[in-house]
Amino acid sequence: MTIQSFHPPRRTLMGPGPSDVYPRVTEALARPTIGHLDPEFVRMMDEIKQLLQFAFKTENPLTLPVSAPGSAGMETCFANLVEPGDKVIVCINGVFGGRMKENVERCGGEAIIVQGEWGRAVDPAAVEETLNAHSDAKIVAFVHAETSTGARSDAKALCALARQYNCLTIVDAVTSLGGSELEVDAWGIDAIYSGTQKCLSCVPGLSPVSFSAKAVEKIQNRQTKVQSWFLDLNLVMGYWGQGVKRAYHHTAPVNALYALHESLVILQEEGLENAWARHQQHHNALVAGLEAIGMSMVVPASERLAQLNLVSVPEGVDEAAVRAQLLADYNLEIGAGLGDFAGKVWRIGLMGCAATKTNVLFCLGALETVMNKSGATQAALAVYQQ
Ligand SMILES: *Cc1c(COP(=O)(O)O)cnc(C)c1O
Repeated sequence: MTIQSFHPPRRTLMGPGPSDVYPRVTEALARPTIGHLDPEFVRMMDEIKQLLQFAFKTENPLTLPVSAPGSAGMETCFANLVEPGDKVIVCINGVFGGRMKENVERCGGEAIIVQGEWGRAVDPAAVEETLNAHSDAKIVAFVHAETSTGARSDAKALCALARQYNCLTIVDAVTSLGGSELEVDAWGIDAIYSGTQKCLSCVPGLSPVSFSAKAVEKIQNRQTKVQSWFLDLNLVMGYWGQGVKRAYHHTAPVNALYALHESLVILQEEGLENAWARHQQHHNALVAGLEAIGMSMVVPASERLAQLNLVSVPEGVDEAAVRAQLLADYNLEIGAGLGDFAGKVWRIGLMGCAATKTNVLFCLGALETVMNKSGATQAALAVYQQ
């Protein structure tokens, strides 16, 4: 049998990522591939750095997209900053905090865990207690937007605390970048990584990262080489670095970088604060709709992410069957629960260009029909009319 071209179905993506991609971004992806050392390409790379500095709100010169998904951005931060024997305080309040611990240990560091509750923000008091008990800790690592639980932690407070105890910070902003307030310089974040497929509404596969001067100093003064050749920033800088003549390190994913450039141009056109406010507005409407049909949000209101909504599955409802029906009848994807929440919750994403009134009403309307309820769309519309 001859295998045919692959044509994916058209879905509406309202899960934990990837999110719907802007048509302008897919269009950019289809532009002609040029050499990754072509002067025009190098010019575009400089623009990507500037646009990422804008999105992260930082002046850090070491700001670039790692040529691999968010998980590789995570590895880049840990592999470069954690040296064998380093004590790293890792806050775990969901799946991604658990991966940070794995990263620390694989880099030969010692992970000191601040265990938090799933569905809650990281507790700064618990972090402070741990900092007091481990005065030799070098780094504090936490997830700003825990996509597995829908909780947003107070990155500003946690970074201030870490600084007070002379620790660097590693912050997971995969889901927060472009969707929640985030200020790398003002909050004193030392190392941050994100992803392209969440609130940037770009294709998956790239990981924007940024490092402060203090982080760069630690990287440059390492006693041992970074274990990963590919992720060693000392080498990557030769390709992405400022003022240096670009040298071949790896072939950049040329077309994917066109896509990232376009998604960041779109973010700049909208304005960061406007993008944050848009996510919040549609979140408010979605929550009103869900609550109107008797569903409850898991995360307390003050700790909720706008872009990832954890809602408990009502008693007696087969959660997998509902998701399957949404996909089959509406081409609508929502997310299942992960880890401790598997089988108990849905994760409804409002990320990037999926955060629209049309999508909120579509999702609520579909849920009403599938679950044989009514009143959700009216409740959401009432929020929009306020
Ligand atoms: C999605 C996600 C990641 C991993 O990103 P990938 O692109 O899937 O590798 C890491 N952290 C958080 C919080 C995420 O939501």
